[in-house]
Amino acid sequence: MDIIESILNIPVQDPPEEEFSSADLSWSKFGTADRHDNVALIPYARVDAFIIGECSNVECPTRFHIERGRKRSKGSLKEYKSDEYLEYRLYWCSFGPENYGEGGGILPSRRYRLNTRNRAARPQSMRGCTCHFVVKRLYARPSLALLIYNDRRHVNKSGFVCHGPLDGDAIGPGAKKVPYVCNEIQQQTMSMIYLGIPEENVLEKHIEGLQRYGDSNATVNILASQYVHKLGMIIKRSTHELDLDDQASIRMWVERNKKSIFFYQDTSETNPFVLGIQTEWQLQQMIRFGHRSLVAADSTFGIKRLKYPLCTLLVFDSRRHALPVAWVITRSIAKPDVSKWMKALLNRVRAVDPGWRINGFLIDDAAAETDPIRHCGLTTFILSWLRNIVKRCSNIEVQREIFKRLGKIVYSIWDGVDYSVALKELNQDFVDQTSFVQYFNASWVPKIEMWLTSMRNLPLASQEASGAIEAYHVKLKVKLYDDSHLGALQRVDWLVHKLTTELHSSYWLDRYADESDSFQNVKEEYIASTSWHRALQIPDCDVTLDDKDHLFAKVVSQKDSSLTHLVWNPGSEFAFCDCSWSIRGNLCKHVVKVNIFCENRQEFQPSMSCQSFKEILTNLWRKPTEDSISLDLSMAWTQQILEQIQKLVELNSSNDIGCVVNNMPLKWIAKRGRTSVGKPPSALALPSSSKSNAIVPKRNRKRKRLSRLR
Ligand SMILES: [Zn+2]
Ligand SMILES: [Zn+2]
Repeated sequence: MDIIESILNIPVQDPPEEEFSSADLSWSKFGTADRHDNVALIPYARVDAFIIGECSNVECPTRFHIERGRKRSKGSLKEYKSDEYLEYRLYWCSFGPENYGEGGGILPSRRYRLNTRNRAARPQSMRGCTCHFVVKRLYARPSLALLIYNDRRHVNKSGFVCHGPLDGDAIGPGAKKVPYVCNEIQQQTMSMIYLGIPEENVLEKHIEGLQRYGDSNATVNILASQYVHKLGMIIKRSTHELDLDDQASIRMWVERNKKSIFFYQDTSETNPFVLGIQTEWQLQQMIRFGHRSLVAADSTFGIKRLKYPLCTLLVFDSRRHALPVAWVITRSIAKPDVSKWMKALLNRVRAVDPGWRINGFLIDDAAAETDPIRHCGLTTFILSWLRNIVKRCSNIEVQREIFKRLGKIVYSIWDGVDYSVALKELNQDFVDQTSFVQYFNASWVPKIEMWLTSMRNLPLASQEASGAIEAYHVKLKVKLYDDSHLGALQRVDWLVHKLTTELHSSYWLDRYADESDSFQNVKEEYIASTSWHRALQIPDCDVTLDDKDHLFAKVVSQKDSSLTHLVWNPGSEFAFCDCSWSIRGNLCKHVVKVNIFCENRQEFQPSMSCQSFKEILTNLWRKPTEDSISLDLSMAWTQQILEQIQKLVELNSSNDIGCVVNNMPLKWIAKRGRTSVGKPPSALALPSSSKSNAIVPKRNRKRKRLSRLR
């Protein structure tokens, strides 16, 4: 074949099939006689169709993940070659690139069994596959993508087929017949075991998964059953305690789990202990759901018995539930330490997706210094106030009144009232509540001016976001206190173990159940897990307002219709309910319901997030002077923002999560397989819109409000 030297001589191919693979394209040699690549040119818009097609390779069904990415902005180059990239992405078969063994080092993919006692510790998913390709969005022609695909065979470094039905030689005795277990199935099986699901159910799902990758027969089923049983035993016997000494134990864990760590700093004379954990799956979720969206921090308030505090970074998934995407264990909230791990995390994300950025950062702790991304800080501190009030004042009426007064101070920003007067009154009236007043004066008053100013300028988290974060917090607490009687809370290795096994598994399975429309009970529980979603189930007729002074609202109990709950301060973030959930310092569904109910009524003031939204819009509107460049600029930006919001609203209100998922990076997503091997992947197929209609909750008003902005 001739070598083509100019990219302009390469034809653009656009196969008619919905999905296509490398076999459907004709490949050209591009470069010089000494150095050339196999390339094909396709429309940039068809890149996803190509990747999906490439994943459904009959001989080696797999997934491709983004191993590396780079990006440059338009106009940044004065001179460039015709094949220069605007975006560069290296996709690698998920059975590669490395073959990790115990200890985190890279082991070559071996043909024969090693004489080690601990075979099981070697994950089966990393097979050292070398298959990879590059997608270059062209700088000169951004509507086109250049595919560079030199290593098209799914082989390891020694040249042997390393996964799929054609791989005859595998690691370990009898492995010839053992079906390969890809990342996804392995994770699914592990998650189910960690969550205590009975072995027979785990096995059934495991076999269903394997059938996507190859024929199933009696031998395969027996081996699968052994695999699941063995994995169960390993998990049961595994312990967090790798060493009697906690510190040594953690060092060993770090050594073994390098891929799941984005920052580690051991205790020394000059530095405090910091451990930042993020699994590959969490990284992918952070990229999927964090980009151009919100990231929130949840600190372990109320879990004081832990040896080191835990900070969780959360994103909001396609159901607007909080999803943990990174955990940081450290005692230090000093700026240099925080910025160290935060930078490491950002770098990790940007190494995969250089264009990744967030639109807002929610924090719940006034003391935290979140400098690297503080310019977009939002606040969710109200629940933290509520918890402190509940903890520090025993009388419910006092609690209610303090909460209401705090609300007054906060709302004073918009009412133009001097907050310092309200603050003084608060101090005088509750002088007997020493514990709370001391806490408030020490933690909040010194910074309150800054907080109130920033609240006026920055968007505030809505109750939906606060509710979602809280749902995570509650789940975390339940998991942690599960076996706290062991005195384990004082060990870091125990916390790490708990997070990376049980908690990680439960979130993985929630998402998986939702995206693949399987595990119906898991899915339903997951959907209903926030106060927001539970509130949407309460009918309007169960809410009555006290029409005179709007002092309270009554909500009929959903469990027992003879009972009603009283919600004080209705229509405000400072609402307070008398149900047991609220009394323990949580945001209950009654409060959420009453607030949704009040939102559209004239006599109630709009929520804080709505007020700050209005304030921002008004400022935006005032800024430009007529007929200026800044006016043009504002118009362009506003238009862009509007489009983005509309897109988001569309996604959120979509009844078919499959549509949302289709537009996201490929790894970990169940795609329709074009494989002819095995049975049709019924359990893993994406849900059709008709199927999921019934379970999708009513859209909430706020989204409708946004969509009406047009
Ligand atoms: Zn491969
Ligand atoms: Zn309640």
